[in-house]
Amino acid sequence: MSGSVYKLRCPHCHHGLRVRNSVAMHPLLRSTYLQCTNVGCGATFRGQMEITHSMSPSGCPNPEIDLPLADAAIRQAAIERENSKQMDIDDLLQDDAVQGEQV
Ligand SMILES: [Zn+2]
Repeated sequence: MSGSVYKLRCPHCHHGLRVRNSVAMHPLLRSTYLQCTNVGCGATFRGQMEITHSMSPSGCPNPEIDLPLADAAIRQAAIERENSKQMDIDDLLQDDAVQGEQV
């Protein structure tokens, strides 16, 4: 099987969605075609992935790209999401270490 599994969930059965194909509409916009990974469901969808803000400036900026810089609330939300992901990884590593000790 090929294609990436995103955290997007099928709105019908809640299994993961796989990107089957995508088409560039603009440097900031792609149309994506998605397929449910549940073979019993088999739903397919079309969606869009859009770049809406810069979180930090590029080291080699394209003069044709003019994006607003994310405001403080957006940046803070991204930091909090990263911190919660790190906590999840720490929990997994701790669980593995505990299981390793029991074996
Ligand atoms: Zn589904």
